[in-house]
Amino acid sequence: MRILVTGGAGFIGSHLIDRLMMEGNEVICLDNFYTGRKHNVLKWIGHPYFELIRHDVTEPIRLEVDQIYHLACPASPVHYQYNPVKTIKTNVIGTLNMLGLAKRIKARFLLASTSEVYGDPEVHPQAEEYWGNVNPIGIRSCYDEGKRVAETLTFDYHRQNDVDIRVVRIFNTYGPRMLENDGRVVSNFIVQALKGVPLTVYGNGAQTRSFCYVSDLVDGFIRLMNSNHTGPINLGNPEEYTILELAQTIQRMVNPDVDIRFEPLPQDDPRRRRPDITKAQKLLDWQPTVPVSEGLRLTIEDFRSRLGVPGTISNTDRVGSV
Ligand code: NAD
Ligand code: UDP
Repeated sequence: MRILVTGGAGFIGSHLIDRLMMEGNEVICLDNFYTGRKHNVLKWIGHPYFELIRHDVTEPIRLEVDQIYHLACPASPVHYQYNPVKTIKTNVIGTLNMLGLAKRIKARFLLASTSEVYGDPEVHPQAEEYWGNVNPIGIRSCYDEGKRVAETLTFDYHRQNDVDIRVVRIFNTYGPRMLENDGRVVSNFIVQALKGVPLTVYGNGAQTRSFCYVSDLVDGFIRLMNSNHTGPINLGNPEEYTILELAQTIQRMVNPDVDIRFEPLPQDDPRRRRPDITKAQKLLDWQPTVPVSEGLRLTIEDFRSRLGVPGTISNTDRVGSV
């Protein structure tokens, strides 16, 4: 199979490419390297089945492929808020261009959407039927509303032009290869603990998230792409933690001497988030297999080697959950 992965040099995209290449597919990785790194796909450069193209999805492109995984979009609030107009362009014009390509070449198209379409949810846990509670004019809107329009476009191309679509709503995902300056909570806490500087908890840390290890997510992506279901389908780990619990867990695992510092909560920060994964379980026979303690261990080891910080991880039997 010939497969295009947009955003393929990024965190999730590069793990997806590893799986697709190992399964013997021909893969085209398309990326503008905003938050992605060539290093993430370095091991495939020179492989006869692999091609890397520097391209911005806001510009059209002509390619011949069977499947498109459309991931191109910065995912961390720090990076997507740096140039919000560009984030909207990437989500709207970029998705439009990739759907146009899928239509022209009759490729199956999978959109990497997000739990952010639920906004600051008033329904808990979040099932796919919930329409969300999103501020249309806030600092997160370029991403949340951008992804909501991307979903709308995807379903309109399906209804109007018969494009074969899949939509996945990804909940917070973490793992090796996140950028040191990514700005998301797991990488921030790990990098801070390894550097011996205080862990920055925003607000009082009572807000919750559910953290999925990247290999589980990639497995769900491939199952959905090759199933007969359009989605939208939630993929995430339903174990829910407060941000303070996460900070204390990482503190315990990496460096018990490091402080926790409370900083202001950013505007519109969702208070609670946890996926209802009943659909993924029933339709895709999918559920996360990597416990958070193990996923964190693997992520800490990766950061430790990249940052050149020696040491070992303290034992942790259990990550507290709410
Ligand atoms: P990431 O920032 O590591 O990867 C995004 C990739 O897209 C990068 O390689 C970046 O350079 C590329 N990119 C950005 N704008 C582009 C453009 N205009 N043209 C071409 N390439 C562009 O983020 P990630 O965590 O790997 O996220 C991948 C996808 O999954 C994103 O669409 C994101 O919205 C979605 N998602 C991720 C999470 C998560 O927790 N990681 C949660 C929900 C949704
Ligand atoms: N957060 C935090 N400290 C940090 C980074 C993030 O307390 O250094 C909080 C943030 O306010 C949010 C949660 O952790 O409540 C998850 O943030 P992230 O940016 O990882 O993802 P998102 O908010 O998009 O789910």
